[in-house]
Formats: sequence, C-alpha cells, structure tokens
Amino acid sequence: MSNAIERNARRLPGFDTRVASALAVLHQAAQAHAGQLLQATSLGAEDMVVTDLIARHGLAIPLATLDTGALHADTLAMLPRIRQHYGLEVQRFSPPAEQVLHFVAERGEGVMFSSLEGRKACCALRKLEPLGRLLAGRTAWVTGLRREQSGERGQVDFIEADGQGRSKINPLADWAWADVWQYIQDHAVPYNPLHDAFYPSIGCAPCTRAVAQGEDFRAGRWWWEQDGAKECGLHVHASPEESRA
Ligand code: SF4
Repeated sequence: MSNAIERNARRLPGFDTRVASALAVLHQAAQAHAGQLLQATSLGAEDMVVTDLIARHGLAIPLATLDTGALHADTLAMLPRIRQHYGLEVQRFSPPAEQVLHFVAERGEGVMFSSLEGRKACCALRKLEPLGRLLAGRTAWVTGLRREQSGERGQVDFIEADGQGRSKINPLADWAWADVWQYIQDHAVPYNPLHDAFYPSIGCAPCTRAVAQGEDFRAGRWWWEQDGAKECGLHVHASPEESRA
C-alpha cells in the first residue's frame, strides 16, 4: 500500500510562492505579536508543516496542543518525535481530570453518538475549556487551517479575527492537500502514521475514522452528523465586522 506522501504529494503550479507566502505570514505575525502568540497544533499533517516552517526559520512561536484525553496513541507519539526532530517542546493542555471522570460517569463513554448536544458538551469540556487556558494572555494563534478542508472553511483568510478578540493566523489558507504533502516530502517532515492509514483529518479517537477513496476530506470526522455541524467550536468564524476590526 502506498504511503500518504506517495499518494498525495504533487508539485502544483505556484507551490513555491505559496510556501514563501506562508513563511511571510508567520514572520509578520511573529513580529506583530512578539511574545504573545503560539501555534495551536493538532499534530496533523498541516500543523506539522507549520511547525517545520517555525523551526526551520527559527521563529519565536511556541507550540501547544490540546490533549483531550481521547487522542490516538500515534497522535500522542508525535510529541516526543517533535522534541527529537526539532528540539522543540509542545505544551499540553488537558481538561480537568475530575470533570472528565464526572462527565463520562454521568453521560457515558458514547455520549458523542447519542445527540449533537452530547457531542458538543464533550467537545466543550475536552477541547474548549483547555483551549481557553491555552490562549489566555495571547493576542494571536497560528493554525493549519486551509480553505480546501471543508465548505465551512472556504472563507479562511491568512489573518482573521477569532471572535474572542484575538487574531487567528492561517499561513496555509490557500494551500492544496497536494502542497502539504509536497512540503512534507521536500523537507522530510515527521508526520502522524494515521495519515498512511487513510485518515486525512485526525481528531479524537472515538470521533475519527479512515475515509474511502473519493470521500470528502472531513468525511472521517463526526461522520454520523450533518455536514454543517462538523466543527467542534475551536474554529468558529468571526463575523465580517469582527474580521474588519
Ligand atoms: S471530538 Fe469526540 S471525543 Fe473529542 S472532545 Fe469532541 S466529542 Fe469528545
């Protein structure tokens, strides 16, 4: 079976320009938000590209991730791999253990499958609560969002308001999936082996599955829900007014 690089990497027209633009966006953000921004990494392919750009160019942008307590072992294994490869630590933010125990005891392990409300309550506890602490005191955060990832993300801009008074920096906003893998190939970027098992988008283990050839990029996330609901609240779009502000 071919690996993710063999399947996806392609040097599309404009690739070098997109890499240069992403780097320029990161440089500008590091300068504008010195000491007050970080990369919130999901440890997936796009975020590894962003981490590589940060490390390769010595940008003062620390790394942090949400350890929801429900991640795949392969995803958690990226933390020591990043340390070994780049000499960088990824700070982990987890939900309060007591609250998770209480929530699971009350709502059950499979709460996310029982209702949209149950799934959102789980995401609120395991993701949004620690995200609040991850972003505390920050004026900006860097993500690996791309417009191509889903219809919901079709409007993603390089720099946008996050709706909470911060700037969200999306250096890969205009990248194609093939660009991500071309960059990974060119720079031997370490990546989550789940991508080799047909997981394009990787989240918590219970809510992520492999996709079939031809299926949508986000088809493996919350696959039992309608398309419009398939976000966990981390990347809520600001209104145009907020973005202009
Ligand atoms: S993605 Fe699934 S397991 Fe993870 S926080 Fe959301 S509902 Fe819970």
